[in-house]
Amino acid sequence: MKTKIGLLYGGKSAEHKVSMQTALAVIKALDHSKFEVHPIYITKEGQWVKGPLLTGPVETVKELEFSQGEALSPTALAPTLFQASEQKGPFDVIFPLLHGPNGEDGTVQGLLELLNLPYVGNGVLSSSAGMDKVIMKNIFAQAGLPQVHYVSFIRGNWETSPEQAYAHVETELGYPCFVKPANLGSSVGISKCSNRAELAAAFEEAFQFDRKIIVEEGVVAREIELGVLGNDYPECSVAGEIVPKVEFYDYKAKYEDGNTALIIPAEITEEEYKTLREMSIKAFQALDCSGLVRADFFVTKEGKIYINEVNTMPGFTPFSMFPLLWKHTGVEYPQLIERLVELGIDRHTQKQ
Ligand code: ADP
Ligand code: MG
Ligand code: MG
Repeated sequence: MKTKIGLLYGGKSAEHKVSMQTALAVIKALDHSKFEVHPIYITKEGQWVKGPLLTGPVETVKELEFSQGEALSPTALAPTLFQASEQKGPFDVIFPLLHGPNGEDGTVQGLLELLNLPYVGNGVLSSSAGMDKVIMKNIFAQAGLPQVHYVSFIRGNWETSPEQAYAHVETELGYPCFVKPANLGSSVGISKCSNRAELAAAFEEAFQFDRKIIVEEGVVAREIELGVLGNDYPECSVAGEIVPKVEFYDYKAKYEDGNTALIIPAEITEEEYKTLREMSIKAFQALDCSGLVRADFFVTKEGKIYINEVNTMPGFTPFSMFPLLWKHTGVEYPQLIERLVELGIDRHTQKQ
């Protein structure tokens, strides 16, 4: 019997395009003699469209952008899937290939929990905590994970007394500092600031994307990342380094330039790798993760290691860091996908 996978991709977020590329790559990599692939496309407007069963690999993103077919809103979708899932089917597992808000933040995961459907990756709690940089960092602090100093603001506080907010940043952190919307990814809305004028502009910018922001002490450091895979027995990949050729790893460097070098395995000491592994697992367990995360670190010249963030649905094309880290660890892309599907099903069955 083939495993029926509902592949969820596209989405209303800024990362729609990335998700499309990922879906295409996953469909190509899946062994269609073992898996039955049911595409569910979420348009940029947020409409859910269930496409036809894919009997073999597709070649272009266009083939995955269904405009016709069964149009479903998430709520309309619920009873359809609910009924079906009680009778076992139409899906054995859902694979959400979605990034950012409304995909990677626990909302879709909550819908799937209600539908009692197994799904790949992180659950509601870890997804939502991982999406909010302030909550994530507070949890890491509680777990004793070293991180750069940070402060956070709600829009209302800032609007009432902006000068006081800037003064607070200057006393607590100084310059340079990084201003970020709390709930985004892909470097959207992030600025590096070196003085009060830049700080004010950065607050304006970040508050366009969120009602909550985080400001962090800026560090000069290498950016090292590890993949974590598993449920209750998580394992780490080799480490990789990102070398952006711009001021910092911004949106353009991530998706447009192709100008960022990924060095795998990263040139670090055995000692550093050991610490990074321990910190990755600690972060994974502190957020109660399952399936996968990519843990991102800053490593300074002096050898200090800080955790920057975890991403609960990291970039997942075959050329993204997470799959490449596993490839270098001995797990090829198709096996990685199969492993994630297994982990998703295991997590569901163990819970019952
Ligand atoms: P995102 O979730 O959008 O990837 P990050 O917090 O990882 O946000 O920030 C994006 C990039 O900005 C990082 O990869 C790094 O290049 C730079 N950066 C972020 N915070 C800092 C910091 N505190 N010090 C130095 N560089 C930083
Ligand atoms: Mg992120
Ligand atoms: Mg990042």
